[in-house]
Amino acid sequence: MKCVVVGGGILGIATARQLALARPGDEVMLLEREPELALHQTARNSGVIHAGVYYPPGSLKARLCRRGAELMIGYCEANGLPLELCGKVVVALDEHELPRLDELERRATANGVPGLRRVDTDGLRAIEPHAAGIAALHSPRTAITDFAAVARAMATELEAAGGKVRTGADVVRMDGGHNASVVLADGERVAADRVIVCAGLRADRLARASGAADAPRIVPFRGEYYVLAPHRRSEVRGLIYPVPDPALPFLGIHLTRRVDGAVLVGPNAVPALALEGYDRHTRSVGDLADLARWPGGWRLARRQWRTGLSELRRSRSVDRFVAAAARYLPGLTAADVEPAPAGVRAQAVDRDGSLVDDFRLEHHGAVTWVRNAPSPAATSSLALAEELIERAGLAG
Ligand SMILES: Cc1cc2nc3c(=O)[nH]c(=O)nc-3n(C[C@H](O)[C@H](O)[C@H](O)COP(=O)(O)OP(=O)(O)OC[C@H]3O[C@@H](n4cnc5c(N)ncnc54)[C@H](O)[C@@H]3O)c2cc1C
Repeated sequence: MKCVVVGGGILGIATARQLALARPGDEVMLLEREPELALHQTARNSGVIHAGVYYPPGSLKARLCRRGAELMIGYCEANGLPLELCGKVVVALDEHELPRLDELERRATANGVPGLRRVDTDGLRAIEPHAAGIAALHSPRTAITDFAAVARAMATELEAAGGKVRTGADVVRMDGGHNASVVLADGERVAADRVIVCAGLRADRLARASGAADAPRIVPFRGEYYVLAPHRRSEVRGLIYPVPDPALPFLGIHLTRRVDGAVLVGPNAVPALALEGYDRHTRSVGDLADLARWPGGWRLARRQWRTGLSELRRSRSVDRFVAAAARYLPGLTAADVEPAPAGVRAQAVDRDGSLVDDFRLEHHGAVTWVRNAPSPAATSSLALAEELIERAGLAG
C-alpha cells in the first residue's frame, strides 16, 4: 500500500510518522510545497500544550486535545524536547465575567482536565503574584513547548522508519476515486492508494480543486505578538489568560511564557489580506478576490465587522494592544514591550459566514481531508494523527 500525506506542518508530519511506524510494510511519502518543513502555523504559534479547558464536551477538540496533550507531553519527555509544565490561569477581572468562568469550569471538569482548581484573589496571587483579577481557574498541567522542534523530531523519526519526505512539492489537486493520483504543480503525478491532506491555510483550495465540497473555506486571521522587555519578564510565571468571548474561537490577548524564557503578549486576531500575510503590508489580490467571490465571505463580514474593526484598530496601535494585556498585568505600558513575529491562523468559515469551531475532518474515496484544524491542533497533533489514520481505514 502507498500512503501519501500532503502538508509538512506538525499535523502532516505526525500523521506520516505514525503511518510509517505502524505500517512498516507500506510506502509512506510526505509532500510539502515549501523548501523546508513546518514553516507556517507550526512555527508561528504560542507554543502552549493546552489541557482542554475550553472545548464543548463531546467535541473533537475536547477529546483530541485531552488525549493529544498527554501524548505530546510524553513525546517531549521521551525525546528530550523543550517542555515546561508551567500551568495556566484563566482570570475573571470582575463579577460580570464569573458566569462565563463558571461555564468554563463546567466544561473543563466534563473534559477531565487534570488538577483543575478554582481560586480566589489570594489563590491567584499565590500562583501569579503580579496578576489582577477576582477569581481564576488554575490548570497546573497546561504546558509549553516548541512545536517546530517537535515537528523536526517527528520528521527525523519518519525518515528513520523508512518514510520519504519531499519538499518543494506543490500539490495542486488529487484525481481519482478509490485510488488517487496526486498532481504536482509541474504536472508530475504521484500514484497513491490513500492520501491524507493536512494543508493548513491551503486546505480549502486543494479540496475544491479536487472536487470536494466548496465549503468550509479558509479565512486567514493574523495573530500579532509583542514580547515583554526583559525588565518585566519575571512578573509572569506561567500563562495568564482572559475569560474568552464565547462567540469567537479565539482566546483573547494573553501573556504566555515561552520555553526560551521570553514572555509573549498576544495574539490578537486580525483578518489577513493574504493567506500567508504575516505583516499588514502583505496582500494578495488573488486571495482576496477568491474570498470576495464567495457568499460566505460577505456573510462573515456582515456578522463580524464590529469585532474585525476593533481588532484592526488595536493592531495599528501598540497602546491599545498593550492596554488589553495591562488589564491582567497592571502598569504595563508600550515602553515595556517589543514587537515579535506574527502567525496566521487557518480558520474555516461555513457558507453561512459562521466560524467553524470544532476540528473538521472529511473522507471521500481514497482521500481524507483536514478541513479545519486551528488551535489546539498543535497540542492535539499526535491524537489527530491517530484519528486521521482511523478514518482513512489505515488503523490496525
Ligand atoms: C498565532 C497562532 C497561535 C497558536 N497557538 C497555538 C497554541 O499555543 N497551541 C496549539 O495547540 N495550537 C496553536 N495554534 C494552532 C496551531 O499552530 C495549528 O493548529 C497547527 O500548527 C496546525 O498544523 P498544520 O500542520 O495543520 O498546519 P501548518 O503548520 O500550517 O502546515 C500546513 C503545511 O501544509 C503545506 N501545504 C499547504 N498547501 C500545500 C500544497 N498545496 N502542497 C503541499 N504542501 C502544502 C504548507 O506549506 C504547510 O507547511 C496557533 C496558531 C496560530 C497561527
